[in-house]
Amino acid sequence: MGTAPQHHSTSDDPTPHLRIVGIGAGPANLSLAALLHGDAAQPHRFFDRKADFTWHDDQLITGATLQVSIFKDLVSLSDPTNRFSFLSYLHEHGRTYHFLNAKFAEVPRTEFRNYLAWAARSNENIAFGESVERVDFDGVFHVTTDRRRVTADNLAVGVGTVPWVPDFVRPHRGPTQFHVSEHLSRSKALGGKRVAVVGGGQSGAEAFLDLLSRPESERPQRVVWISRRRNYFPIDDSTFTNDFFMPDYSDYFFRLPEAKRSELISAHLLASDGISESTLRAIYQELYRLQFIERDEHRFGLLPNRTVTAADRAGGGAWELTLHHNDEPDQTQCLAVDAVVWATGFRPAPKPFLEPLLDRMATEHGEFRVDEDFAAEWDGPPDRSIFVQNAVRGQRGLPDVNLSLNAWRARRIADRLRGRPAADPAMSFIEWSAKHARETQWTL
Ligand SMILES: Cc1cc2nc3c(=O)[nH]c(=O)nc-3n(C[C@H](O)[C@H](O)[C@H](O)COP(=O)(O)OP(=O)(O)OC[C@H]3O[C@@H](n4cnc5c(N)ncnc54)[C@H](O)[C@@H]3O)c2cc1C
Repeated sequence: MGTAPQHHSTSDDPTPHLRIVGIGAGPANLSLAALLHGDAAQPHRFFDRKADFTWHDDQLITGATLQVSIFKDLVSLSDPTNRFSFLSYLHEHGRTYHFLNAKFAEVPRTEFRNYLAWAARSNENIAFGESVERVDFDGVFHVTTDRRRVTADNLAVGVGTVPWVPDFVRPHRGPTQFHVSEHLSRSKALGGKRVAVVGGGQSGAEAFLDLLSRPESERPQRVVWISRRRNYFPIDDSTFTNDFFMPDYSDYFFRLPEAKRSELISAHLLASDGISESTLRAIYQELYRLQFIERDEHRFGLLPNRTVTAADRAGGGAWELTLHHNDEPDQTQCLAVDAVVWATGFRPAPKPFLEPLLDRMATEHGEFRVDEDFAAEWDGPPDRSIFVQNAVRGQRGLPDVNLSLNAWRARRIADRLRGRPAADPAMSFIEWSAKHARETQWTL
């Protein structure tokens, strides 16, 4: 790499030619922007279409906590002296001692969101309220936003995910059937209603707990929690499982054949997509309180191991959900409810701005195929890269979509831009591969 910046920008735009343009400024690209900050050899600009930084704000339910260590902030695991660390945020706001004395077992998600917003706001290379609409290439990338055109040698695509609901729900989405990403705004109207929460992950658990523990005037008449999983399973946050979220496992995983990778994603799903132990306990205690102390056992229903296959209109503005039992295939249940909260997950966001380049980019099962530095394989020059963040779970495994390897992945990209060899990954205690095995070397 190391191509000197050229000057290709359009005459109506004062932005000089850039080394890299970031599309999206969620945690993934914010991390890269933080690592590049102050490096005059890497002029860059990141655009986000949101007017201002938010982080799943409509799911910031009181009591929601971060599911990873606070060290998994934007930079600490790859550049601990970087000014955009969580510690730096605490220091700048005069709350380091208070944070320590608070002894949070899990950090409030709102505090992490506020940290991210501070990092976004205090980085002058990030522009909010600017949507990237199109990217063309003629030796450099021409990035068209809704405000200007800029040119760059490289792109970092970090547009994250979008809410997903089953096809049969799409025509009905609105005030009484909504995705959990709209929970706080939409659920205000659910007092006195019969509500179903569909989805057995962390978001579904938080929505269920929130609805059940509201004051009487705002509490639904009944809340039923439906999950396809056999039970309400916890996240596996134990020591060796967490080694799956280390750089050397990510590299090992990347080199496995595609069929093996997809098998491992299914096998280890709960390492990433299970429910926090603290949330499960809070729910269980709430159920105890309702059933045995308030004697209000009709307030809730628990229906795991069921798949919702239809949501049809019933009389009086209600909905009828059809549920199939997974172990008893001849059993179908119908459930009448007034509202449904779909906590059915997120999928990679569409990237329509890449349309002009799509036929030049390699794909694998709907993902852009990437090299080991997260650069998409394409037929362009090798020193012009399209890096993709949080969009290759099939190739990089479960950590690709969460915060665990955010700082490390961004460092890989930054090292590639700087023409440096990738920083050595921290090695797990575990020898994942039999190739280049440490044991074998010792015994030779
Ligand atoms: C409620 C919730 C809680 C989570 N909590 C945790 C947790 O505790 N621990 C963990 O490890 N992970 C967690 N995750 C998972 C993951 O960390 C987050 O989803 C994270 O936000 C992903 O970051 P991102 O930058 O890839 O995407 P996003 O945060 O989705 O950011 C993408 C950005 O791209 C912008 N964008 C999209 N298209 C364009 C365009 N054309 N032009 C300009 N900008 C564009 C969007 O406006 C958006 O700001 C959580 C996810 C959710 C939904």
